[in-house]
Amino acid sequence: MEERLAALARNLWWTWHPEAVEVWRGIDPELWRQCRHSPVTFMRRLGRERLARLGDDPAFRIKLHRVTSDLQRYLHRATTWGSSNAGPLRARPVVYFCAELGIHESMPLYSGGLGVLAGDLLKSASDLGIPMIGISLFYREGYFRQRLSETGGQIADYETIDPGDLPLVQVNDPAGKPLVIELPIQGERVKVGAWTADLGLVPVYFLDMAEAFREMGIQELGLRLYGGGEAVRLTQEIILGIGGMRLLLSLGIQPGAIHLNEGHCALAPLEYARHLMAEHGLSFEAARRQAAGRTVFTTHTPVAAGHDRFAPELVEHLLGSYRQELGIGPEELLALGRIDPQNRMESFCMTVLALKMASRANAVSSIHGKVSRDMWRGLTPERPCQEVPIGHITNGIHVLGWLAPLMQELFHRYFPPDWQQRIGREEVWLHIQSIPDEELWNTVLLMKTRFLRFLPREPHRAWPQNARLNPRALTIGFARRFAAYKRADLLLADPARLKKLLTDPARPVQMIFSGKAHPRDEEGGEMLGRVYRFATDPELRDRVVFIEDYDINVGRHLVQGVDLWLNTPVQGMEACGTSGMKVALNGGLNLSILDGWWPEGFDSTNGFAVSGSRHPDPAVRDGRDREAIFRALEEEVVPLYYRQEGGEEPNGVPHGWVAMLKRAMCTLGWRFSADRMVKDYTIHCYRPGAGISTAEMSTPFV
Ligand SMILES: *Cc1c(COP(=O)(O)O)cnc(C)c1O
Repeated sequence: MEERLAALARNLWWTWHPEAVEVWRGIDPELWRQCRHSPVTFMRRLGRERLARLGDDPAFRIKLHRVTSDLQRYLHRATTWGSSNAGPLRARPVVYFCAELGIHESMPLYSGGLGVLAGDLLKSASDLGIPMIGISLFYREGYFRQRLSETGGQIADYETIDPGDLPLVQVNDPAGKPLVIELPIQGERVKVGAWTADLGLVPVYFLDMAEAFREMGIQELGLRLYGGGEAVRLTQEIILGIGGMRLLLSLGIQPGAIHLNEGHCALAPLEYARHLMAEHGLSFEAARRQAAGRTVFTTHTPVAAGHDRFAPELVEHLLGSYRQELGIGPEELLALGRIDPQNRMESFCMTVLALKMASRANAVSSIHGKVSRDMWRGLTPERPCQEVPIGHITNGIHVLGWLAPLMQELFHRYFPPDWQQRIGREEVWLHIQSIPDEELWNTVLLMKTRFLRFLPREPHRAWPQNARLNPRALTIGFARRFAAYKRADLLLADPARLKKLLTDPARPVQMIFSGKAHPRDEEGGEMLGRVYRFATDPELRDRVVFIEDYDINVGRHLVQGVDLWLNTPVQGMEACGTSGMKVALNGGLNLSILDGWWPEGFDSTNGFAVSGSRHPDPAVRDGRDREAIFRALEEEVVPLYYRQEGGEEPNGVPHGWVAMLKRAMCTLGWRFSADRMVKDYTIHCYRPGAGISTAEMSTPFV
């Protein structure tokens, strides 16, 4: 029994299959929660004896057998979209690099959207059967967990993460000893080991920095995600990019396509070029071109400060010996990270390096494509802005991982039997229209009720404590990083108007906030304090709460349990945003500034939208956006939610609202799925990168 369960724990496939999650939870729901849904910890705490006793329970044996058979069938599917459309990548897979991976709440190796997107992309690649390998870093201190003080101050707790508590296996060399990769950093040969996990069919490698940092005498912050100063950051990025590529090559993996998710990993194609020079005696320039031919770069940040820049002296200090292996001079290396190669004052920017090392570059929404072309037009001064070679592939979410189990049950009843395999296709979602309004609405209400019951649970405290929210009331969710441009407090600046909206006795509205501020972001911390003080205002008792420690677990419950997702970024600052996509699948609607993905998603029948002001004065701009959002809430959202056809019956179904939910599901569910995104990357980036001609394309099997 222990063996069978351990095998289930080892493949993270279980995280996106509700029946598999139920195997764990069903054993001991309370202990499962205490272990933060980590099967490895859970099994250890259950103990040998209890595990053995589970084998005596026939019902449990049947349940486990069914799930492990499903896993085996999944791993050995004969045909997938990838087998028909990406077969030639099998010999040379896609290698996908990202500094953070958000796979599951039990693996705190991510901070937010970037990591969650990367995790979703890998899961979808597995579902579609695209040969892919993920590469990231193992942070022994991860990202912080958030607590709030009694006055609303953010307390950041860093816990030491033991790889033994995660479903990770140490990567060994052929002799069976832990594999060690040597990297030239700061003139020394620094040693790096690695861990691996399986995400369905996709192996993921995490490079372990602990030994390297010990050797280099870096004690603090280096083991934290986005911790430390420039030197620590660059060292992490050397380990990720150069170390990651060296690891793959030493395992005998030849990349077909190299996908750089954000600039942190931009050194990977440089290392691949070094490998080509050594193997085939190419010049640096020829090798660089070949490496670039395989490389695709995705940029995620419209904020200038979000792009890593390093001082030229630091680059030479840490990378000088590596540069010699490339056989190039200091200025030649630095030029690869500079917009103007001649400008010796310019710092070394990882995004510029990524753009110069890739033959294809993309932003993550149509609007972000425009912003990015404008941002990087200095790289191609001879071209007009619209011809800067940065396109866009809009982000999507891994549907089965975010779709509530209750909603899945409903789909099982009304959708074709193989709907899960075809979740990225429009025709599947059109079946939403066949679900009776009452049934969809009752499911939504049940999901909301369950979520509100989850609210006060440890380890995620809700402030104020013991607030009781009402499942019948219109419930607004706002959860995201507390970065200034996201303006969590936009509506709070007019407290009287907001209080009036929330406390209307006939049409009550409640709000749930969650999110972390970066520990060094003072403005974000202050914004969080303002939200906390509003939530704990006695006049708003049982109307507003703040949930601590926003993570994938809180996120999953929130997107499955609210009616309306509010998004108020400063126009042009949201690259894409994916949380709203998760809400749309689960019977919620979006009210958002027309930024990021929303201009592509919104069609006036499937949610609510407001044009963001572009006024240069922030006070005027915020004032206009506030007015527009309040008006949308007061005049559109609240009336539609509370308008029940057939009189004032309190338990009636709001048919207008439900019609909009259905429109949201069938217009957004497939278009903003990670399956659609991964197919786009395969067709437009991976296949050309791997040199597969479009003539070899076969028709998609689904
Ligand atoms: C989906 C998700 C995000 C990204 O959402 P945004 O809309 O970009 O803010 C961030 N964090 C978690 C935990 C998520 O699940």
